[in-house]
Amino acid sequence: MTTTVAAYAAPAAKAPLERTTIERRAVGEHDVLIDIAFVGICHSDIHQVSEGWGSATFPMVPGHEITGTVAETGPSVTALRVGDRVGVGCMVDSCRTCDNCEAGLEQYCTGGGPVWTYNSVGKDGQTTYGGYAQKIVVDENYVVRVPDALPLDTAAPLLCSGITTYSPLRHWHAGPGTKVAVVGLGGLGHMGVQIAHALGAEVTVLSQSLRKKDDGLRLGADHYHATADPATFEGLAGTFDLILNTVSAPLDFAAYFSLLRTGGAMVNVGLPEEAVQVTLQSLYGNRRSMSSSGIGGIAETQEMLDFCAEHGIAAEIEPIRANQVNEAYERVLAGDVRFRFVIDATTI
Ligand code: NAP
Ligand code: ZN
Ligand code: ZN
Repeated sequence: MTTTVAAYAAPAAKAPLERTTIERRAVGEHDVLIDIAFVGICHSDIHQVSEGWGSATFPMVPGHEITGTVAETGPSVTALRVGDRVGVGCMVDSCRTCDNCEAGLEQYCTGGGPVWTYNSVGKDGQTTYGGYAQKIVVDENYVVRVPDALPLDTAAPLLCSGITTYSPLRHWHAGPGTKVAVVGLGGLGHMGVQIAHALGAEVTVLSQSLRKKDDGLRLGADHYHATADPATFEGLAGTFDLILNTVSAPLDFAAYFSLLRTGGAMVNVGLPEEAVQVTLQSLYGNRRSMSSSGIGGIAETQEMLDFCAEHGIAAEIEPIRANQVNEAYERVLAGDVRFRFVIDATTI
């Protein structure tokens, strides 16, 4: 039997979100029903609700930074029990048999791509609806455990902003002896700073202004510079092994490449709506590279949560009621959030 649950949905592109009801599928053999406790607001939700990344399906229930507790388990579920504290991120399924799925890189599934948590089509042919809702049904293989040391509210943003920064920091070997710059101190950026610091890297924040400097240093940055100041680019030329760019808008890439050491990499996890311009002359002279990275696999997401629990890391959040979601979107677009809005799902 399907379950009717209250949710917040955008009825059309760029339309304000409003309270509605949706159907969740019946709990299948390998499914769990999760009572959602908290859900973070990621800038990706805003890109998609406004069709900034291309055409989307409406009504849309965003939300892919989900924490909650298991309320029901399907007959063949083995890893989870009722009452377990769990999380769901950006993916709820994938083909499970391609090389990438077998290697734990489900986010890069080549067997038709992953089933995204919302604005996607599930294996049952139905549109997926995300976490701005009271409950969700997910296959147990795409559910992770939230360690006891992490509160469910401040852990919610880890399901996207945590893994999206953890995965490239690990892949590009951030650690002792490396200099890492994090561009943009928003939802992703403030997790990137904490994780890079915990990995042992020397961390620099490159923010538009010095407005959030105290926060950045408190989160673990060793240095903090304003990108509006041209002296920043002169003083830091040739400094970084890795630049993690979390900015949601295009940048002057040549200026940032000049901050890389020979052989350094700029990894762009921010996904602007516009095409960006890059001149290869700004890369070739020092064998620099420009790359990108998408979230992380399921096992890596669990590894990230365990790492955060071990290091006492979580998101800094501004909790909101569900009916404040449209106002929260405006404030994210205005850069007015420290550092993640998290919806208390009991207010839906
Ligand atoms: P956010 O909280 O809005 O943070 C973005 C930060 O970028 C802002 O806080 C601001 O930092 C900086 N910024 C914004 N506009 C700027 C501009 N015009 N010029 C320079 N800096 C600017 O957003 P988020 O939730 O962290 O997401 C960031 C981006 O990552 C989005 O595009 C999102 O879609 C993408 N994303 C990608 C993945 C992935 O898998 N690759 C996963 C999640 C999100 P300062 O105030 O410090 O300058
Ligand atoms: Zn996200
Ligand atoms: Zn696959």
